[in-house]
Amino acid sequence: MATLPRRRNTRTVWVGDVPIGGGHPISIQTMTKTDTRDVPATLTEIRAVARAGADLVRLAVPDSEAAAALSPICSESPIPVVADIHFDYRLAVSALDAGVSKIRLNPGNIGDPRQIREVLDRAGAENIPIRIGINAGSLPDAIQNQFGLTPEALVAAAEEQLEIMEAAGFKAVIVSLKASSVLLTVRANELMSTATDCPLHIGITEAGSPARGAIKSASGLGYLLGQGIGDTLRVSLTGDPVEEVRVAAAILSSWGLRRSGPDVISCPMCGRCRVDLMGIVEAVEHRLAKVEESIQVAVMGCEVNGPGEARHADVGLACGAGFGVLMYRGEIVKRVPESLMVEELMALVHQYLAEHREGSGPEGPTREEGGEDEDACAIE
Ligand code: SF4
Repeated sequence: MATLPRRRNTRTVWVGDVPIGGGHPISIQTMTKTDTRDVPATLTEIRAVARAGADLVRLAVPDSEAAAALSPICSESPIPVVADIHFDYRLAVSALDAGVSKIRLNPGNIGDPRQIREVLDRAGAENIPIRIGINAGSLPDAIQNQFGLTPEALVAAAEEQLEIMEAAGFKAVIVSLKASSVLLTVRANELMSTATDCPLHIGITEAGSPARGAIKSASGLGYLLGQGIGDTLRVSLTGDPVEEVRVAAAILSSWGLRRSGPDVISCPMCGRCRVDLMGIVEAVEHRLAKVEESIQVAVMGCEVNGPGEARHADVGLACGAGFGVLMYRGEIVKRVPESLMVEELMALVHQYLAEHREGSGPEGPTREEGGEDEDACAIE
């Protein structure tokens, strides 16, 4: 049996009621794409990402008007709000006044040590953590001149910011090192994970459109998660933030680090398949789109791997020539013609969800009265 990757040792930092690091579950975060000054639109987006599974949400705070909108947003947000601040320490102070749960800020881009100190003292007194967010696109010139665009440069930039925090005795720090290059991001985070016990926020920045960005994010973040690196993650897509959350959840779920929503296992099909598997999978995914609970559903094309995968899933369908065998928690239930596969499979899905919602035992469905015996359900 394969085991989960061993997580790197990091300190726990609390963002509102969400613990990050210290072996706590890896949280998902995203960023709103609305104008933060538009409070109703921003709250609508926050509620949508929270429903999709986001644990935290970050908002851009480019000016005082955006900072003024934080107070009503924080008081109504269902998940902790993170303020993204650059350059102006007064925006960080306003965000703290408004009740944010975390600030993303690089002390170095504020500059004035007294202003930095004021922010750190306020955040420290209120137990509000700060994320140092190093981005390959905005490295300080001096560091880039010394190291070039390398993993070492990203780490050096983070260490420079960390020194400022540590000199002020500020411990509630989360660090992120991001680049649009998967390789650069991965190597920088590998290095950073050996240099600090601060929790690491991981992500591939500017990853691109939903399709390409999901692949880049899965490649880079999956590789890091596989080494136990990463305490919270964000997938950055040029698209809907709900999609960012779904992709992040799928990456975690593929490593067995989170079960969220339906997980559909379907085979790629080949010349053995004798049903319209693509149509069946599409219909099942469509019907599952509004299901938020965890359930694993297998839809398989033939007898080669079908029975095994279907048996291992919560609900499974293993197809034959124009018919399929339905399985529920590893037990064969019945054989159905192709025309009824989707309906019958979904009936089992709803039965499973109802049983788990009610917390009733895993009884499994009863076979139809006078239903087929196991031999009659054989695929061949
Ligand atoms: S399960 Fe069967 S149909 Fe699907 S890819 Fe494998 S051999 Fe082909």
